[in-house]
Amino acid sequence: MLYAWIGNQKRPPALKGERTECRDCGGALIAVLPVENVLHWRHKGGDCDPWSEPEGPWHLGWKEHFDISCREIALRDMVTGELHRADVLVADGTPGATVLELQHSPISEDERIARESFYRRGRRMFWLVHVHNENSFLATYFGMSLDFGSRVVNVDGKEFAIMRWMGPNKQFIEKWKRATAHVFFNIGPHIFFLAGPELSKRLGWTPQRGEFALCRLTRDEFIKAVKLVD
Ligand SMILES: [Zn+2]
Repeated sequence: MLYAWIGNQKRPPALKGERTECRDCGGALIAVLPVENVLHWRHKGGDCDPWSEPEGPWHLGWKEHFDISCREIALRDMVTGELHRADVLVADGTPGATVLELQHSPISEDERIARESFYRRGRRMFWLVHVHNENSFLATYFGMSLDFGSRVVNVDGKEFAIMRWMGPNKQFIEKWKRATAHVFFNIGPHIFFLAGPELSKRLGWTPQRGEFALCRLTRDEFIKAVKLVD
C-alpha cells in the first residue's frame, strides 16, 4: 500500500516511525522506508486486502500516471463484505468506470478469475501485466515471440499481428488469452494489447495453442484508453 490518509491528505509516508490509520479497515498503518524500494505503508495487524502484493518502482511509476484520487481505491462487496483495493479506479460511479490492475507477480488462473469477477461488476477492467525476467526467462521468450511482420490483420484501423509463442511457458500466454478483462503487456518501454476471444473472432481467426495476436500502443495511448479519452 503506497498511500494512506494523514489528516486530509492522501500520501506516501514521509518520516520513519510515522503512523496513521487505514481508512478502509481502521487498522494501524506503519511507515516503511526501505533503502532499496519504494516508500509504503504496512498494516500492523495484516492487510485488509487479502490480494495485496509487495509493490515496487514499477507499481509506483504506473500509479503516478493517474490522479492520486484514483489510486488504491477500496471496493467492498455489499453482500459478502469482501474488500479489495483496485490499483487504479477512474471515472468511479459512471458508465466509464474502469479498474486498472497492475500485475507484476505471477498469478494463477483461479486468482485471475476471482479478481475479474470482483472488479468487473459494473466496471471495465484492464490488466497491465509486467513481463520481466525476475523469476524466469519469460521476458526473453516473450521478446523472441514478437513478430509484427508475418501475419498482420486490421480491425477498426488498428493493426494486429498474429504470432506464435517461442520457448516454454506457453501456459503464460494461454492463461492471459482466456481473460475476460482487457489484457495489456508491459515489457521494458513497450506496451501491447492482447486480442481476447471476441476480438479474435472479429479478426476472422481461431487461435491455435501457443498462437496470440498483439497490437502495439504507446504509453499515452494506453493511459488514454484507461481514462476513456481520445
Ligand atoms: Zn486496511
